[in-house]
Amino acid sequence: MHGLMQDWPLLVHTILDHAALNHAEREMVTRSVEGPIRRCTMADLRTRSLRVAKALQQEGVRLGDRVATMAWNTDRHVETWYGIMGLGAICHTLNPRLFAEQLVYIINHAEDRLLFVDLTFLPVIQAIRDQLPTVEKVIVLTDEAHLPADTPPGTLAYESWLDQADDDFTWARFDENTAAALCYTSGTTGNPKGVLYSHRSNVLHGLMANQSDVFALSSSDAILPIVPMFHANAWAITYAAPMAGAGLVMPGPGMDGASIWELLESEKVTCSAAVPTVWLGLLQYLDETGSQLPWLERVVIGGAACPRMMIERLEGEFDVEVVHGWGMTEMSPIGTIGAVKHATASLEGEERVDLKTKQGRSPYLVEMKVVDDEGHAQPRDGQSFGHLLVRGPAISSAYFRHEEDILTEDGWFDTGDIAHIDALGYMQITDRDKDVIKSGGEWISSIEVENAAVGCPGIAEAAVIGISHAKWGERPLLIAVRAAGSDVSKGDLLAYLEGKIATWWMPDEVVFVEALPHTATGKIKKTELREQFSDYRL
Ligand code: AMP
Repeated sequence: MHGLMQDWPLLVHTILDHAALNHAEREMVTRSVEGPIRRCTMADLRTRSLRVAKALQQEGVRLGDRVATMAWNTDRHVETWYGIMGLGAICHTLNPRLFAEQLVYIINHAEDRLLFVDLTFLPVIQAIRDQLPTVEKVIVLTDEAHLPADTPPGTLAYESWLDQADDDFTWARFDENTAAALCYTSGTTGNPKGVLYSHRSNVLHGLMANQSDVFALSSSDAILPIVPMFHANAWAITYAAPMAGAGLVMPGPGMDGASIWELLESEKVTCSAAVPTVWLGLLQYLDETGSQLPWLERVVIGGAACPRMMIERLEGEFDVEVVHGWGMTEMSPIGTIGAVKHATASLEGEERVDLKTKQGRSPYLVEMKVVDDEGHAQPRDGQSFGHLLVRGPAISSAYFRHEEDILTEDGWFDTGDIAHIDALGYMQITDRDKDVIKSGGEWISSIEVENAAVGCPGIAEAAVIGISHAKWGERPLLIAVRAAGSDVSKGDLLAYLEGKIATWWMPDEVVFVEALPHTATGKIKKTELREQFSDYRL
């Protein structure tokens, strides 16, 4: 027997309807690509998104067509994203940091029909334009006055394009399992793979992101999503904020410490989210200027392991609560969140920081388990580590136009991360399965050694890779970048690590380099380092 409830499909654009009706006055503030700060309201956002949907319809875009964006976090990006989805087309967010060949591959693989691009990235698109046969038009997210004079035919200014359409449009209605958005994940091997989100998965994930132990957004908050919309949906914030009626503060191209601080201060931002590198930039700015963070209450840090010193400094010196998160593109992306719970709320000092360096607990709608090489579940004892598997309604079941089966027989997705889970449910990542260092039959966590190393004064960034060793199989090599002006030595660094990691985890050698290679999502590219150091002998 079915329940007798209304059939009200979970469609992404219902979020905007809710926001415009109940929080019409709430602002979205943008640092524009052209420079000035721009302001609009939730009511304006909905109106402009309706116009985008209508203009797309007039272009002949239909249910299921792919429309790409390559843009910073701005008001125009949010309205195109809702407009595309509200028509039933699929919003394909492109990561501008991908190599040209990868971009050509994914745009052609997705068969994108239109492409919205920020002025900043127009040269990237122009350089590959003749290799994109499916792209009918390139629409530059600016007005006529800022459109470069030499743009080729088929390249239009967004504001003029939008002027063709009024807001007399009714959102399309379709099944909630209809595809809404597409985001390619750049694995370290092979071609990027498309993660295809549905309206239902995005709405459920947005609701999940608003649980009180996750972003906990309310209508009194103003949130600054620094994590880009092209990196796994800005961690759901562009859904979760309008759902809650929270103010959105969009950083545009200003990712440096000074620009971020200016917005935190002028817009009284209470909550923000970004990868550790961004917070390092902000901390450096605070050190240089003596500025404070009077409004900021909490930050979500994830995408890469949050270093201990970042938790200590933000909580201890600036009174900002750090919530460490873990996830991946395939998980929409939130997988775990490190908020304290009843049993851990009274922890103080070192113990509290220990807890916060863990990646955290799974919120409702994510199930996770750790299994050994044979697939047997490991106990939740905070020690037994293995492959981290997940399942839930906002987790991929397959890649777009890809034959490969990506789930285990009983329906779990292998994250490729190695982790353990404790009795209170807190998960800690020890490594990517490809990065783990196997020394004398035991595993060394490269992440933990790296985290300890970046806490050393004078060290800007560090990576640890395994180097083959006659006796032990592999031993760790620490590759470090000195902070500007620092002359920290190998001896200083090793002395600093003593007592912070197990003695047998101590790197056998330290090499200083000018810079480390990074992937398009800002992670250290270990594959490239392993290649670079393939002839290295200990
Ligand atoms: P992406 O799909 O590009 O977001 O990458 C997902 C991967 O980033 C995960 O599988 C992890 O290996 C890594 N990752 C994300 N968040 C964290 C974190 N808090 N700590 C350690 N690794 C992380």
